[in-house]
Formats: sequence, C-alpha cells, structure tokens
Amino acid sequence: MGKIIKISGPLIVADGMENVKMFDVVRVSDKGLIGEVIELRGDKASIQVYEETSMLGTGEPVESTEEPLSVELAPGLMGGIYDGIQRPLEKLYDISGARIDRGVTAHAVDVTKKWAFKPTLKKGDTVTSGDVIGTVEENEVVTHRIMVPYGVSGKIEKIESGSFNVEQTIAVINDGKKKHDVCMLQRWPVRRGRPYKEKLAPTEPLVTGQRVVDTLFPIARGGVAAVPGPFGSGKTVLQHALAKWSDADIIVYVGCGERGNEMTDVLNEFPELIDPKTNQPLMKRTVLIANTSDMPVAAREASIYTGITIAEYYRDMGYSVAIMADSTSRWAEALREMSGRLQEMPGEEGYPAYLSSRLAEFYERAGSVKILGSDKTRVGSVTAIGAVSPPGGDMSEPVSQATLRIVKVYWGLSSALAYKRHFPAIDWLVSYSLYGDRLAEWFTKNVDEKFNAYRTEISKLLQEEAKLDEIVRLVGMDALSPRDRLTMEAAKSVREDYLHQNSFHEVDTYTSLKKQFKMLKLIVDWHTQAERALDRGVSVEQILSAPCRERIGRAKYVPESEIAELDRIHEEMLDSYAGLKKEGE
Ligand code: ADP
Ligand code: MG
Repeated sequence: MGKIIKISGPLIVADGMENVKMFDVVRVSDKGLIGEVIELRGDKASIQVYEETSMLGTGEPVESTEEPLSVELAPGLMGGIYDGIQRPLEKLYDISGARIDRGVTAHAVDVTKKWAFKPTLKKGDTVTSGDVIGTVEENEVVTHRIMVPYGVSGKIEKIESGSFNVEQTIAVINDGKKKHDVCMLQRWPVRRGRPYKEKLAPTEPLVTGQRVVDTLFPIARGGVAAVPGPFGSGKTVLQHALAKWSDADIIVYVGCGERGNEMTDVLNEFPELIDPKTNQPLMKRTVLIANTSDMPVAAREASIYTGITIAEYYRDMGYSVAIMADSTSRWAEALREMSGRLQEMPGEEGYPAYLSSRLAEFYERAGSVKILGSDKTRVGSVTAIGAVSPPGGDMSEPVSQATLRIVKVYWGLSSALAYKRHFPAIDWLVSYSLYGDRLAEWFTKNVDEKFNAYRTEISKLLQEEAKLDEIVRLVGMDALSPRDRLTMEAAKSVREDYLHQNSFHEVDTYTSLKKQFKMLKLIVDWHTQAERALDRGVSVEQILSAPCRERIGRAKYVPESEIAELDRIHEEMLDSYAGLKKEGE
C-alpha cells in the first residue's frame, strides 16, 4: 500500500508503489476514489484520479487493484448512459443523489437481471475465442451474441439454455488442462484494442442519409472521419444526424462536453428519438457516454477508450458499429492538462509530444475486420467520426493537424456557410473523402450505374462556380456568357436544392440513396436540357423562367414513400424543355 505525497488537481503522486504497474487502477484514500497510474518513477506513481480530489490530503493511503482500467461487456449495455469510466449515470444518481459521490462504484450492467440465454452450440462442440455459443435478446432490436472469451478454447462440456444473470455460468469449456466457466459478462482493458484476425479494405459505404456526405464525401463502413469546425458551425447537429440516421447496427456516442448544456441536450433528446428502421426508440441500439461539466478532466480522457472498447465488443458479434466523439479537442485538452501536471516537456501549444500518436491509436481501432472465431467469413466494423473544435476555427492548431494526418474523410465545416445558414455547413471546396473511388463500384451496383457520373458532374459544377464567382466579383454578372450563367444557376441549384439539408425538417432530415439519385438526376438533367435549349437559340431568361425549376427546388420535401413523384417531375421537366423554342419561331 502506498501513501499520497503530492496532490495537484486531478493528479496525485504516491510513494511506496513499487509493486504497481503502469495503467493499474488504484483506490485512493479511505473514500476509495478511482484513479489510474499514468507514470512510474522508482516507487513513486503518478495517478490520474477520475473524481474530485479537493478533500484529499497527503499521507492518505493508495491501494492498487492490480487491474487495468476495464469495461464490463454484457447484455444490458444497450440504452445505457455512462460516465467516462463506464459508471452508469442513472444508477449513480440513484445511489448518491443528483451529484455523483466520490468513490461510488456500480456495475455497468444490472447483474441481477435475468436474461433468456439460447445456446447455438451443444455439448461436445469444439470452440475457440470469439465463437458465438448462444444468444440473448438484449431488447426488441439487438440480439446479443455471447462469445467465447478471449484466450479460451476447447470442448464444450456443458451448456444450458434458460434464464441467467450475467455472472452465472452458462457454459463450461474444457481446454484439456483446465475447465473454464463461461458467463455472459466479460471484462476488457479499455486501452487495449480487442483482437481480430485481419483488417479488411473498406468496400461499402456507411449510408447516412445526409446528401452532402453520401454523395460527395462518403464514409466507408469501418472508415474514419473528422468534422472540424469553429463554434456554432454545426458539428454537434451533424454528429446527432449521423447517430440518428446512419445505417449502423449499433451507435456509441461519446459526448466530451463541448458546452455544459450540450450534453444535457443529448441526454434529453436521444431517449426521445425513434429509429426509423425499427420504429423503436433509437436508444435501444445506442450507448451514450457523457462527460457532464461537473466531472473531472481525467474521466474525459478515458471516455473515448471506454467508448471504442464497447464499439469493438459489438463489432466482434458481427455488427456494424459507429462511434461518434464530440469533441476530440476537449479530449486533447484533458490530455494536455494531465501532461502539464506531470511536468512533461510540452510540445506545440502545450500539448504533449505524444498527442498525435494517442489520436492515431484511437482512430486505428476503427476498421472493417474479420473477427475472431472458427467461422472464417464473419466480419464486423467500427466506423469512427470525431468532431474537432479548433479555437477560433484555426485549422493550423495541433489537434486539427494531427487529426488530418490520420483520417480519410474530412468534412470541413465553414463558419461562412453557417453564417449564411447553409447547413450542413460542409465546405465542398476543402472537404474530401479518400474512400470515394473505392466505393464507386458499390454505388454503381447498389444505387444506379450513373450515380458516379452524376456525382462527378455536380462536383464539377461547384468547382466551376467557384471560378466564375471570381469573375463575377471582378466584372459583374453581365460579363458572363449565357452558358456560364446556366452553369451558375445549376451550381446554385446543387447548393440550395441538394446540398442544403435541414436536420430539423421531418422529411428533409433523411434522404435515402435512391432518392438522392433521383434528385441528382433532376438537377443535372435540367442543366443538360437548359444547355441544349440555349444551343437551339432559346434565351437564358426563357430557360430560367420555366415553371419546373420551382418543383426541382421542392423535390427534397417529397416523402420517401412518394418518390415516384420525382420521376414525374423529371418527365415534365423534359417535356417543358423539349417544347421551348427560340422566340419568334
Ligand atoms: P457546434 O457543435 O459546431 O458548435 P451546433 O451543431 O451546435 O454547432 O450547431 C449550431 C446551430 O446551427 C444549431 O443550433 C442549429 O441552429 C444550426 N444547424 C447546424 N446544422 C444544422 C442543420 N443540418 N440543419 C439545420 N440547422 C442546423
Ligand atoms: Mg457542438
């Protein structure tokens, strides 16, 4: 047992700690505050404490639990709301009232609740780590697959169907030397990625229903994306939209407390949301990790690891999981604060030199993988999307720069667009997706063979518009040729009728790929028809005053159930332009 010799905010130093290991969890003082060893020098350990340390004094005892910081993985996680070290928030509120008392621990899942376990294997079967031995209906939308724990393999000696709590033995596996009792609860150290067989190249998009994302800057299942943007540019609204609408099986949402009330919004809003796919509350396939403002910074540092470990666990069941972290900048600030208190040599802007490697370690845990187990075909994925909030929107700062070097998708939010109320304020001139080419084939096969051509066409229109904008600024609109004027009009239609998407509009909030394609087709084909009419000598004024244009603008509000309407608008558009003749003919 050690003793506190120094206290510096969330960091304490204890001596007499020769037997502890790096990242061991310790209990501090007789209140049993939870901490983690983050530096060892001789018999002195520096410990980040996940709770308020103001009442501590030197000389108080520190005891190692001899275990790394771990999460509990079992049925009952779905719908859970946790703090950064996976303590259930509602539970903690029950135990200690509105404020979380120090040293309070609670199981992450209810260990008394009984679940109906249905074996999928039988006595005598040979199994290896990761094999599914049975299932539990975690709720109406998630089937929880119970897996052979890591490091265990052998013959099933006993397996029972029936009602069990997560700590009761449901199977016994004999590896020839030892019998392993298997229960539904597993523990896993958060700072270690869960193993898999092989990382796969991403081939499928995570469909988000957000037009600018899916069409222009798609993210692959198992991909990594960053959403950088200044305050008020729409990072949180976009993260929420992705959590609500993307076609992942499981969502892990990590709120790193951007603003005090933002996490409260999440906590209030998420439980109300209905999942459009299942008509069940969205929370049934969601885990929330929340760092409210009264929680110590160290818990924020741990929260993204807690989140991604839970994500990996569901990936290992064969699911497609998406994890959102809002915002990684606040996480990096926690890292900086701890590093400062450790008196480490500061790097750029006071962040530790290992900032970029820590960020990389986090994002590297995303991916589409072949999962462990005897079945060689099973895959699962974790897609990671991190918001970045550079102070003053200055992208040259260390967190933004480090993130940019890692991620493959960059949705750069612009304050200028947000100011004009163009949402999502993803700046099409600076954003990119390195998955675009890889996913093209998928879009051809699954949406339409022309999807990629239309997509290229609207990117081209937006680029041309940027160039023409320069000219207009210098010499005015009148200097443009009629053809360029049409290009400007088409680009405007792309921006206003397509890219602009109101997250708060019942219909507009989500657009299926099928509808996205029909909308693209309307806009791009309109431009083609307009150019043809111009070639026939029809005036720009005549072309622009055609009534079908207003209907193209309203296409986004056509409900998914009525998208055949878009085909009718398309036909009428073709008809009305076919009829347009040069004046006087
Ligand atoms: P940030 O997290 O970057 O500080 P928010 O996500 O909180 O910014 O967005 C700020 C405001 O911008 C929101 O309250 C909302 O009014 C508006 N907004 C952002 N995105 C959208 C959107 N897709 N549709 C409609 N309004 C949006
Ligand atoms: Mg925000």
